[in-house]
Amino acid sequence: MSESVIVVGGGAIGLAAAWSLARRGAEVLVLERHGHVHELGSHGGYTRIIRQAYHEGSHYIGLVREAEDEWLALARRRGDPLLARTGLVEFGHPDNADYQATLAACRASEVVHERLSAAAARERWPMFHVPRDWEVCYTPSGGYLRVRACMDALWAEAAAAGAKIRHGARAREIVMGGDRPRVLLEEGALLPADRVVVCAGAYSADLLPGFLRGGLTAQRRVLAWTTPAPARRSALSKMPVWAGLTPEGFFYGFPHLEMAGEGGVDGFKLACHTTATWDRIQAGEAGATAPPVNPERVDRVVDLQRDLAPLERFLERYLPAARGPIERATVCMYGCTPSWDFIIDHHPLDARVTVAAGFSGHGFKFAPAIGRLIAELALAGARGSAPELFSYARHQRDLAR
Ligand SMILES: Cc1cc2nc3c(=O)[nH]c(=O)nc-3n(C[C@H](O)[C@H](O)[C@H](O)COP(=O)(O)OP(=O)(O)OC[C@H]3O[C@@H](n4cnc5c(N)ncnc54)[C@H](O)[C@@H]3O)c2cc1C
Repeated sequence: MSESVIVVGGGAIGLAAAWSLARRGAEVLVLERHGHVHELGSHGGYTRIIRQAYHEGSHYIGLVREAEDEWLALARRRGDPLLARTGLVEFGHPDNADYQATLAACRASEVVHERLSAAAARERWPMFHVPRDWEVCYTPSGGYLRVRACMDALWAEAAAAGAKIRHGARAREIVMGGDRPRVLLEEGALLPADRVVVCAGAYSADLLPGFLRGGLTAQRRVLAWTTPAPARRSALSKMPVWAGLTPEGFFYGFPHLEMAGEGGVDGFKLACHTTATWDRIQAGEAGATAPPVNPERVDRVVDLQRDLAPLERFLERYLPAARGPIERATVCMYGCTPSWDFIIDHHPLDARVTVAAGFSGHGFKFAPAIGRLIAELALAGARGSAPELFSYARHQRDLAR
């Protein structure tokens, strides 16, 4: 008899998990508190970067490659280009820690890359005002994924394999122990299953009290779209995805894209991944704090000074061609672990419950590969090829330090 699995959360990770579980024969029900593709979790904003230049560590690169193969196969099956290969430009001072980590990861995993001087980079991509003593690392494999198309594809495959989804179904509690784990819905129903998989993104901590001693947190981020002058748009639409590793923080963005036709925004999208303050926090500097937010009460009002002024200053200094009125801005949340490495493991109190969370601002690209890891863990009970880095024990060790 097939195993019944409830997946809590219908974001990219939950949908990919549902697909992987259903094609392994499980009877899958996805519970999603909102609808299919929305702005209230971690996947808002229409596009996500995919890159092999992984400053977070070369151990991620095998998973990126697996996920990329899956995205491309999905795109072929659906006749819809989910992934646009633009190349990725990362620029920073050669001493910048993230820049060095990017180069080290590229070398360790033989990621095709080019190192360019600021002068050579300016000649090739005149829109980037790379300071004279900085460098550029260019990886032709970089690009972006179209969020809605990717999530439509994951859901279509999951549904074709037999998975069911309920929208507007908010899980209140995961009830562990007993014959089978159960999911208590807000409306009061108690749903039993052989296995439960929690993929609730930035909302995970609320559903998992005590898990990782409060180490799962939510962080607020703002995405903005400028409208550059029409004469500059053609050049901006041909540029690669990019990241600027600057003393003011880690900024990134996309080419100028016309996405209004598919429910998105026409414009030049950019955001700040980590600020200089964040870098000081990571370095353990006393007094440097960025308090996590409560995902239920996150401030969704975009503030000109606090949120948009740093983006405008970045453009003025490093990418002036992309300046223009900010036509649209939105708030999105990262669901983070303390190290910003993912957590994918059984719940320590009930091995029939699997948790996949803490995708910390870089998880979307991995969804199909993470779906496989989740299915192996939930159904076979084995860590399989899930890196130790994503285990509960590893994160617990971090917290004990
Ligand atoms: C601004 C921003 C930029 C990013 N850029 C990139 C990038 O360029 N490249 C990249 O790879 N990644 C990027 N990421 C990260 C990536 O988007 C996330 O890691 C990924 O979307 C996480 O997917 P998820 O399914 O875990 O979370 P979500 O997409 O948030 O899905 C979780 C789902 O669970 C639902 N849910 C929550 N609680 C409950 C409950 N109690 N009951 C039922 N349903 C519930 C939510 O409604 C939500 O739909 C970015 C994230 C942000 C915020």
